[in-house]
Amino acid sequence: MRLLLSALLCIAATAVPARAAEFALAQRWIHGAPGEPALQVQAAAPGLWILRQSKASNFEAPFLYLIAGERGALLLDTGAEPADGAALPLRATVDGLLRQWQRERGLAAPLALTVAHTHAHRDHVHGDDQFRDRTDTRIVGRGAAEVAAFFGLTRWPQGEATFELGGRTLTVLPLPGHEAAHIAVYDPASASLFTGDTLYPGLLTVRDLAAYRASAQRLAAFARAHRVERALGAHVEMSARPYALYPLGSAFQPEEHPLPLNPAHIAQWTRETARLGDFLGETAFADFAFARVPQAGEFDDPPGSHGMLVAGTDAVYLSHLPMFHRPHDYQLILRAELPEPSLRAYRDDARAHPDEYYTLVPTQRWALPKTIQPDARFRADLYRGHFERGGARIAENVEVRVARIVHFRRFEPGREPRSAEWIAFGEGREHFLAHRIETPPDVDQIVRIDGAPREGAQLRHGRDSGALKPGERFDGVRVLRPIYTEYGDLAE
Ligand SMILES: [Zn+2]
Ligand SMILES: [Zn+2]
Repeated sequence: MRLLLSALLCIAATAVPARAAEFALAQRWIHGAPGEPALQVQAAAPGLWILRQSKASNFEAPFLYLIAGERGALLLDTGAEPADGAALPLRATVDGLLRQWQRERGLAAPLALTVAHTHAHRDHVHGDDQFRDRTDTRIVGRGAAEVAAFFGLTRWPQGEATFELGGRTLTVLPLPGHEAAHIAVYDPASASLFTGDTLYPGLLTVRDLAAYRASAQRLAAFARAHRVERALGAHVEMSARPYALYPLGSAFQPEEHPLPLNPAHIAQWTRETARLGDFLGETAFADFAFARVPQAGEFDDPPGSHGMLVAGTDAVYLSHLPMFHRPHDYQLILRAELPEPSLRAYRDDARAHPDEYYTLVPTQRWALPKTIQPDARFRADLYRGHFERGGARIAENVEVRVARIVHFRRFEPGREPRSAEWIAFGEGREHFLAHRIETPPDVDQIVRIDGAPREGAQLRHGRDSGALKPGERFDGVRVLRPIYTEYGDLAE
């Protein structure tokens, strides 16, 4: 009954009706298999075609959207430069689809075409030139000011504007953060939100974090207030397996995540952008992941001496010993590799002193965000106990390799209340939690646990837990033993 009613309302409200059920992707997407075409078209709903460029043509393999009404059509993005230098058959494809639409709908005049972009990155604008000589065609400029002026977004990045295609009215919203001129487009007829590179099942690159967060909040509010059944982005980089990304630059993705993300994904994405903190590196969730690309000067810290706690003997992890002032205001957990003799010395010592903890202090001063990159190396001395508080040095000038970064975030004191979250890490028989540090006064605590949560997962305690005690249970784990508990460095 509800379906029928909404279908009737839909027909009454728009000349190009599309019930939710009408959105369908009948075929599997091209994904870099030998012999596939450079461009694939799927008619997803009446007047909505999704085009995908082949991974063989350009590894970015973007998705392009063509939306048509009774008088006009919008082409959102024009693809990436084909690697083989061949022209992408975009203009001919678009013209063919629009001619067919005109015929089917019995439209008298050819449709006016607007070529717009989700944003100005190269893999979204390459085919623009194919449309420059097309009659009754406008190509939207690439800067934020030009985009805002074209659509009438006078309060950029606030507000929204409508864009009329004739019996089909789209809404355009500013969505900066991945890129300064990024927009989202909403098509009520197909209940779809086109989200470009800001939200898709892949590695979402965040440049201006504050703008990106604000964009996510506005988009989520819009999605709650309108009939949004899916977000359709510009790429797919996740595999169908949760949390798993294809490596950057993959030219073959046989088991991709589906293109559409649902309203629950939009809500989760918004929540996570708010909770990420000022992160560095990559953070993966089941259906999308984030990567931070710092803007010039953003993480230019003075060099410092960055002591770290050592956790784990099978696999060695380091947890930076933070304070709330520069340049020590980072929570950093990384998987490290030590050379064989030092590793053996450490393991032997740890076996003989099961109740002790270990720390490590680099032999040189450097900036944390510059030095700590995957595969980077630095030298450090290893101590039983705290290197500044009477610990015993057990290995000198050890070459430490950064194997993988689990968590890397700069504090934003005052932005959020003190958290009751714990960051999981560990391998094999040894698993740990680190308290997620937010705001002074806080506690830096690492505990060994029983249980094996996914690395990087943030477990929620039922209350603002403060330090944990042995035997405590929450979120599927049990605390075995606190390894290190520090209040002093994180006092107000
Ligand atoms: Zn982009
Ligand atoms: Zn892109």
